[in-house]
Amino acid sequence: MSPARFLDPEGARYGLPTYPWGWARVYDPDLATRDQLAEKGLRPGGQDPVAQLMWRSRRTGARGGGVRTAWLYRISLAAPKRTMTPARRRSIAAALRARRRCATCERVYRYCIPTSLGECPNCFYDTEPEQWELDDDIDLEMRHEVEALEEEGGAPGRAGDACRRGGHLAG
Ligand SMILES: [Zn+2]
Repeated sequence: MSPARFLDPEGARYGLPTYPWGWARVYDPDLATRDQLAEKGLRPGGQDPVAQLMWRSRRTGARGGGVRTAWLYRISLAAPKRTMTPARRRSIAAALRARRRCATCERVYRYCIPTSLGECPNCFYDTEPEQWELDDDIDLEMRHEVEALEEEGGAPGRAGDACRRGGHLAG
């Protein structure tokens, strides 16, 4: 498959203007992937992707068909990436964890403890938690949430669906 297969500057075939890996900057020097922005100390800053890269890769499984894509953003519209100190990251992680921990049974849940109940639904209704509620991916999920916060500039309450009404984060 020739790289030219992925050249679609008008987005007629792939929806967005599309360039093979390494070609985007030739066509438009203002374009960068999220990672390339990060290397410049920038983040997309709320802008939608304006183009995409497409390239063959052995790293995708059968589902990806051996083709990977990455969105491209305008460097001129990017915002400065706010750096988060390790202490602040730990503080946010602890705050997220606290919102998921039941004060009564001390279990950590995959979801936030409802403030209306004041404890986990299982304590409140005297039931046993199901396995999915206490999945061991919890720490990994929270790390993703902290990274999402970092991406958005550390603004509390913007980490996906995480505990939107759970009050302010510490730190
Ligand atoms: Zn509980």
